[in-house]
Amino acid sequence: MERASWQVKPGASVALKERDAASTAGAPGDRAATDAAVPAMHKLLLGLQDRLFAESARSVLIVLQGIDASGKDGTISHVLRGLNPLGTKVAVFKVPTHEELAHDFLWRVHARCPAAGEIGIFNRSHYEDVLVVRVHRLVAEATWRARYGHINEFESLLADAGTTVVKLFLHVSKDEQRTRLDARVANPAKRWKFQESDVTERARWDEYRAAFEEMLARTSTPAAPWFVVPADHKWYRNWVVSTILIDVLGEMDPRYPDAR
Ligand code: AMP
Ligand code: MG
Repeated sequence: MERASWQVKPGASVALKERDAASTAGAPGDRAATDAAVPAMHKLLLGLQDRLFAESARSVLIVLQGIDASGKDGTISHVLRGLNPLGTKVAVFKVPTHEELAHDFLWRVHARCPAAGEIGIFNRSHYEDVLVVRVHRLVAEATWRARYGHINEFESLLADAGTTVVKLFLHVSKDEQRTRLDARVANPAKRWKFQESDVTERARWDEYRAAFEEMLARTSTPAAPWFVVPADHKWYRNWVVSTILIDVLGEMDPRYPDAR
């Protein structure tokens, strides 16, 4: 399957309610068959990454966004399983520190972008500055609204500098989020992940949906498109993410440099 099926067309409005979070469209088969297809995809990815790393001229930035329990951490473990840690950099964005808040919102982000040859993965990102910041009214509306333009220009700068930006929105349903949050409470191995804020944020589901929809509509550009990944089924999400990454890296077609 081609990545275009999950891509948000630049300028198109997005209604998340109309997109099935439990979709398994295009998968090689049921869960078992799809899981069985993934190791070969990881092998392909590793080969592509090896060439990107050796070429050392361009980079890939994977941006992961999604509501709490949408599977951002799980996606990163999955993607990393297919990559060489040598050429991979993960950056996690939490509540900004005093120092970070004393700069423009892209300052901390730019510093963590992948260098030539690397694949960077952002667990949350500069998009928090038009999401949580909007929902919690942490800055004036005019301030966060101006950020759509700043973000598009920033990502276009990255693209001009040789970074292919791949933005993945993990789309989970409200029911599936409930199931996952309940599991966080019930399962001692998952309880550490549970935060009080998971519950208070869930109560703002509609406000987050509006913020996600506008983010997707305003910042899916040809240089840095958004993909809406149906994420209720983790096995499907993993397969979709691998499919998109193979497609993107395959198109970049990195080459081993000639011997010096
Ligand atoms: P977690 O991903 O569960 O570890 O939580 C990280 C928290 O940091 C989330 O609640 C985010 O919304 C929050 N966060 C990340 N970036 C920002 C930001 N720029 N402004 C305010 N909160 C943020
Ligand atoms: Mg959390």
